[in-house]
Amino acid sequence: MVLEGKIIKQIGKYKVVLIQSKCIAAASCIAISPDLFRLNEENLVEIIEGGTDEPDNVMLSAQSCPTGAIEIYENDKKLWPPE
Ligand code: SF4
Repeated sequence: MVLEGKIIKQIGKYKVVLIQSKCIAAASCIAISPDLFRLNEENLVEIIEGGTDEPDNVMLSAQSCPTGAIEIYENDKKLWPPE
């Protein structure tokens, strides 16, 4: 699902929200979750169609992002990044 530059996908218990405008193509998320994230032609992170990963690993990816471009929610509570 794409909404105003945000890509949203449910991965197990987590809702993953990618804020593409914050992505600087550091690719640390891709190193951790190569089956879920990739860079598109514009060097912005996107979710691979049909891709997935273990929820805990997705959290690690989010925590590795230097710009907070990957947000993690559980039951609409924001877990990452911290406010
Ligand atoms: S780690 Fe963050 S900045 Fe780097 S590619 Fe992933 S989303 Fe973009």
